[in-house]
Amino acid sequence: MEQTMPSWLKKRAFLSPNRIAVKTTNEEITFKELFIKAEEIGKKLGALGIEKGSHVGILAHNSLDFVIFLHALLGIGAKVVFLNTKLTEKELSFQLENSKVSILITDDKLFKTSITGIQKASFSEVKKLEKSNLSFQEEVSLSDVATIMYTSGTTGNPKGVVQTYGNHWWSATGSSLNLGLHDNDRWLLAVPLFHISGFSILMRSVIYGMTVILHEKFEAERVQHGIFHEGVTIISCVTAMLQKMLEHLHEPYPDTFRCLLLGGGPAPLPILEKCKEANIPVYQTYGMTETSSQIVTLSPEDALTKLGSAGKVLFPAQLKIKSENHHEAGEIVVKGPNVTKGYLYNEEATNKAIIDGWLHTGDMGYVDEDGYLYVLDRRSDLIISGGENVYPAEIESVLLSHPAVKEAGVTGQDDERWGKVPAAFLVMAHSIEESELRSFCQKRLASFKIPANFYFVDELTRNASNKLVRRKLFSLLEDQRNED
Ligand code: ATP
Ligand code: MG
Repeated sequence: MEQTMPSWLKKRAFLSPNRIAVKTTNEEITFKELFIKAEEIGKKLGALGIEKGSHVGILAHNSLDFVIFLHALLGIGAKVVFLNTKLTEKELSFQLENSKVSILITDDKLFKTSITGIQKASFSEVKKLEKSNLSFQEEVSLSDVATIMYTSGTTGNPKGVVQTYGNHWWSATGSSLNLGLHDNDRWLLAVPLFHISGFSILMRSVIYGMTVILHEKFEAERVQHGIFHEGVTIISCVTAMLQKMLEHLHEPYPDTFRCLLLGGGPAPLPILEKCKEANIPVYQTYGMTETSSQIVTLSPEDALTKLGSAGKVLFPAQLKIKSENHHEAGEIVVKGPNVTKGYLYNEEATNKAIIDGWLHTGDMGYVDEDGYLYVLDRRSDLIISGGENVYPAEIESVLLSHPAVKEAGVTGQDDERWGKVPAAFLVMAHSIEESELRSFCQKRLASFKIPANFYFVDELTRNASNKLVRRKLFSLLEDQRNED
């Protein structure tokens, strides 16, 4: 039987109307006000022809309006297609066509620059429209599609992940069953709302009745201010953000700050160790667009004893390692009500990834005897050198622990004798001799893991989500040659 729930924002506005839903630098809004505004925008969106089931693209930087528009679209039953603000016009066109979007809504800043040849409307234009008689849905079905979100495109072309209300519900529930829910919780949202890391905070806010402190973009000083003076209790971070926070930390964080959820990519050990010294409550987490955010998280009591682990799989979900030999590293496969049904209009990719209800993540890892997951790397980035498995992330982590190294990327290079050998691409904070780097690595890595070559470059190849794209590192050398 179809499972339905009352429409989320409407229910939340009924349960806790006067609680603050979202606070930005200069505005704050209660759940009741948010509902009234979203309902009004929903009616105006109806005047553009949007209705239940429409695929609507949204392209915006974090703002209160973005939040209101998202709730409005969900409220009227549209399927929201999220777009990354850093995409090129070509990438945007691909995702808009691929997802069969009927109209694109943008914030005012992105309206002119974004893209041409598609019906679009800016936030300001929508606000000026007459209201239609389209009303908020009374119920949502957990199997209904709420959002479509493209993967970051780190291993290939981005794929449109279909996320249902049930996926978001169980993701939010799974998170709170692990992290708990405190009366005073305020979750700082300084990651993009168009990523699952940001959007999932918004879903938790409405499901838990929790205040979101919304930042337009990540700025370390403002984050510190939020933690010290605005009662922020939880923040979601990626490693690059955490690094900047550490640079700006001059006194210990107050006890009110209870969780720094760190995910999105590998967390180098030296950084985790620094956090341990500074008493920062880091919870490593592993998840992806396909799992509607976290699926594995290191719970509070184990944060210090299992440093480097992503934790145990959350209550509603299951995890297995697909390897030939028990207890060996292999592909991480997961299952649970937060896991996507599949990729949009891409049966081939869906059938490849989801087999018997288990999602094959493409990531390699192992589970220790106590059930803790250690994520090693992406399967497609694995370097097989003379029959040995070499994980680029491990080498990058060592390189990054050298004070002269600012950024590190490692990939395989063809080699007559070994098949492949690791090669390191480095952005340096200051230059040092290659021999020094080599001996630094020799002390910390087995010989087959020591990069055969070190290439010094100005920047690494990154995608619109700022993730390292290792398969493109060698193109940096061609670019350099062309410039010479
Ligand atoms: P694409 O699927 O298009 O290649 P992507 O996988 O980078 O892009 P996302 O869904 O944004 O797209 O990222 C999820 C991925 O991020 C995971 O599959 C994993 O590779 C990586 N990741 C997330 N958390 C961790 C973690 N704790 N440790 C290591 N890697 C992580
Ligand atoms: Mg992926």
